[in-house]
Amino acid sequence: MSNRTLPVASLGFPRIGRHRELKFALEGYWSGRIAEGDLLETAKTLRAENWAVQRDNGITQIPSNDFSFYDHVLDTAVMVGAIPAAYGWTGGEVPLSLYFAMARGSEGDGAAGCGHVHRGHGVPALEMTKWFDTNYHYMVPDIAEDQVFTLTSQKPVDHFLEAKALGIHTRPVVLGPVTFLKLAKARPATFKPLDLLAGLLPVYEDLFRRLAAAGADWVQVDEPILALDLTEGERHAFKLSYDSLAKAAPGLKVMLTTYFGALADNLEAAAALPVAGLHIDLARAPEQLDAVARAVRADQVLSLGVIDGRNIWRADLAAILDRLTPVVAARGADAVAVAASCSLLHVPIDLELETALDADLRTWLAFATQKLGELATLGRGLAQGKDAVRQTVNDAAQAIAARASSPKVTDPLVRGRVAGIDAGMKTRASAFEDRRAAQADAIALPLFPTTTIGSFPQTSDVRKARSAHAGGALSYKDYEAFLRRETAAAIRWQEEIGLDVLVHGEFERNDMVQYFGEQLSGFAFTRHAWVQSYGSRYVRPPIIFGDVSRPNPMTVRWWQYAQSLTRKPVKGMLTGPVTILNWSFVRDDIPRSETCRQIALAIRDEVSDLEKAGAKMIQIDEAALREGLPLRHKDWRHYLDWAVEAFRLCSSGVADGTQIHTHMCYSEFNDIIPAIAAMDADVISIETSRSKMELLDAFRNFRYPNEIGPGVYDIHSPRVPGTEEMTGLLSLARQRLQDRQLWVNPDCGLKTRKWEEVRPALVNMVEAARRLRDAD
Ligand code: GLN
Ligand code: ZN
Repeated sequence: MSNRTLPVASLGFPRIGRHRELKFALEGYWSGRIAEGDLLETAKTLRAENWAVQRDNGITQIPSNDFSFYDHVLDTAVMVGAIPAAYGWTGGEVPLSLYFAMARGSEGDGAAGCGHVHRGHGVPALEMTKWFDTNYHYMVPDIAEDQVFTLTSQKPVDHFLEAKALGIHTRPVVLGPVTFLKLAKARPATFKPLDLLAGLLPVYEDLFRRLAAAGADWVQVDEPILALDLTEGERHAFKLSYDSLAKAAPGLKVMLTTYFGALADNLEAAAALPVAGLHIDLARAPEQLDAVARAVRADQVLSLGVIDGRNIWRADLAAILDRLTPVVAARGADAVAVAASCSLLHVPIDLELETALDADLRTWLAFATQKLGELATLGRGLAQGKDAVRQTVNDAAQAIAARASSPKVTDPLVRGRVAGIDAGMKTRASAFEDRRAAQADAIALPLFPTTTIGSFPQTSDVRKARSAHAGGALSYKDYEAFLRRETAAAIRWQEEIGLDVLVHGEFERNDMVQYFGEQLSGFAFTRHAWVQSYGSRYVRPPIIFGDVSRPNPMTVRWWQYAQSLTRKPVKGMLTGPVTILNWSFVRDDIPRSETCRQIALAIRDEVSDLEKAGAKMIQIDEAALREGLPLRHKDWRHYLDWAVEAFRLCSSGVADGTQIHTHMCYSEFNDIIPAIAAMDADVISIETSRSKMELLDAFRNFRYPNEIGPGVYDIHSPRVPGTEEMTGLLSLARQRLQDRQLWVNPDCGLKTRKWEEVRPALVNMVEAARRLRDAD
């Protein structure tokens, strides 16, 4: 068999380790159980393994510097010296303790006993936010107006040399200067980080020269913002940057890497840059192939990101070969590479570990390691012709055909129900004003009713009981009895402190999506398929592989039990369809909107069963609705249309007197307020405590008619807010909304807090509402 292949690139490999070695090493180090040297050793072993597995699977452009202890954006900030003064850095090499202080706060996630004290004692972490539209979170670089950039570390060079010493020639990955600055936050917000580009470029030039001197021939420079809406100024920043980098290190070839969407109106600017290669995402934006192929110069390598780095489905290799063969023929094999669409960071490492997964489903999947194999097959198939890879391509075709025709995937009943959705199912029987009256009759509530968002502390007892039950050490009966005791205690306590609308506390839930996914058809769960969410936090997203339905009620029993203990109303508590969708790996054989509709019907069934059981209030959380917004503004409308439709579909089947609540975990509503209003929830609770209620302006300006619970208690902090503070926030809310619209609640669920914090805070909150009523 010939080895001839096109260049094959993975763009980045998961850094966490097959068995989450990085997490355990980090947490051991943070808690003082293992020494810095051990952590460094684990990291080095992981890097070596990653390089070897990519080499052994046929990757020719093996990435280095994709490894990070916490986050690659943080790595970049530290590398260029963007270290806020508060961390007490005075130049020179940046110690690991300072790096982790930027990642987690100098006291580490609020956890005590960390032991790694440095001068910036008590400094909070950098802000964290979502990496484009993924569920990975990066640390937001914090840039001062007088920021001086300097090269503080040679991590990209060091890792290149580390691989070289193992006999592996790598292509270092760096986050590009324009994307870095665009993702950064200016402090104070009186300027734009991009204004400081001229100061940053010499650092990149220096780095590029050092990489070239170390023997690197290519560098992968990630500029994913090229898939966003950009201003002329931002586009011009690319020209400035890449002109200067080309001059600084003429021998170092740049693979300019774009992903998560199409270049579209940025294509011309990107194609004009003096770079040796351009990578495009053809999983997300297959339609851009022809335009990009026309735009890139003949001497440039066009890197075709055809293997989906964001999802876990096996690729249709035959179709990809057919699509790429003419491109290779036209450009010549020297001017094309095959690649994953983006870094494989976003998918689990190895399907081989999933021995308990349904045998059919398993043949339909490809995780990072399997994707390497797919890439290698494509590289050889394109260089040598389809026949050279016939067997592998046929195997994939067979698996895909089996998936398409599998009864596990398609459920005619679900298809029929979706086809039968009509406008009536998506609209409440009466307008809000009439529902309001009916609800006031059904549920007697005071002005400024108090409630919470759903979960109470998931104490170590709760977590221990759950894992004892999962591991077989605690019988179902005993586990259930334990959960009932917790629930009963929570209900009793809520009554005691005088909350108006109670919750059962969600003690039985491991996670707000997993809990539902495990009870829905069409979902599968893995045992080892971890994906980094941020730092040492990894998640195992459910896999939606088939049509979704709800065989049995999912929450009714818990609600009934809780309601049986009190005369106060207990809210039914559900996760909404958009959030379930956005936090899962979603099937790629039908549109996302279609899967969302199926989930909505399943939740609708649950809503209806809760109502039949007597629930007067049902909350449907849509924590992830906003984060699902597309990267390009022009795509927002379509997304919001089907997302709102899904919410209405699951919530509109109830009687006027049944009150639908929803909850959203964020504070930016300005640009989506019409969509929020279109959801037509009777009550929405939102996160406002840290924004001084300013975001309610959007609701006021829109004349938002329904009821709102603006959070008055910041649940992200262990601090207990006082009554005054909360009455203060509420009076700010009253300036913006009518009294009859207002509810009183915390920002979000309380599962991450301790009872010692929650108890006094909620007592104060109830008191705040009382004071408002009394003063009236
Ligand atoms: N009901 C959920 C809870 O309280 C809502 C959390 C969320 O939306 N993130 O935990
Ligand atoms: Zn929330």
